Amino acid sequence: MRILVVEDDDGIAEPLAEGLAREGFEVSRVATGAAALGEPVPDVVLLDLGLPDLDGYAVCQQLRSRSSVPILVLTARGAEIDRVVGLELGADDYIVKPFGFRELVARVRAVLRRANAEMSALADVAGPEQVQVLGALTVDRRARRVLVDGTEVTLSPKEFDLLALLAEDPGAVVTRQTILEEVWDPHWYGPTKTVDVHVASLRRKLGHPEWIETVRRVGLRLGDTAAATHP
Ligand code: CA
Repeated sequence: MRILVVEDDDGIAEPLAEGLAREGFEVSRVATGAAALGEPVPDVVLLDLGLPDLDGYAVCQQLRSRSSVPILVLTARGAEIDRVVGLELGADDYIVKPFGFRELVARVRAVLRRANAEMSALADVAGPEQVQVLGALTVDRRARRVLVDGTEVTLSPKEFDLLALLAEDPGAVVTRQTILEEVWDPHWYGPTKTVDVHVASLRRKLGHPEWIETVRRVGLRLGDTAAATHP
């Protein structure tokens, strides 16, 4: 695990770098924002907000614009506004100086764990082998095929995308906004009636209208798909 420590205060940076090395991290240390942006992307970044050259927020934003590396912001400023701004700029967590070393290591490990979990969740969804069986419903993302009780159901591309999205987290409500962004277009501002038309068609084709539940004013949910089509 390569960790990049961006901190201009030697009194903080030196013991921190030594401690992290003892914890088994491969540590790179820089003292300016420009140097931080010139480094190869590490596995995790510890970023001081009070840097001599660039604003730490700007560094955070630029790091985030080029990679999804976990960023843990270090700051002497503990005001709530800083926290909000830091997180909005894409920092993963925030620690206020002075901090205990053990706490810092725990927070670093936590952001790394979260990042890994997100990566593997993405890999699962995008995985070439993914065939998801949910009771009587089978969603094969690799082949873009859907089976109900073993029989293939022919769906339009949008219907498939919509069902696959709902199946990513069965039982969870997916908001209409998310559906529009994921299945249609990120900049969709058209009538949301389009979704209803596709949902109606999808329900009809699946033969189990109750599987796709409408949660009023919120969105849709893939409900219990255990029911098979036996007469
Ligand atoms: Ca500083």
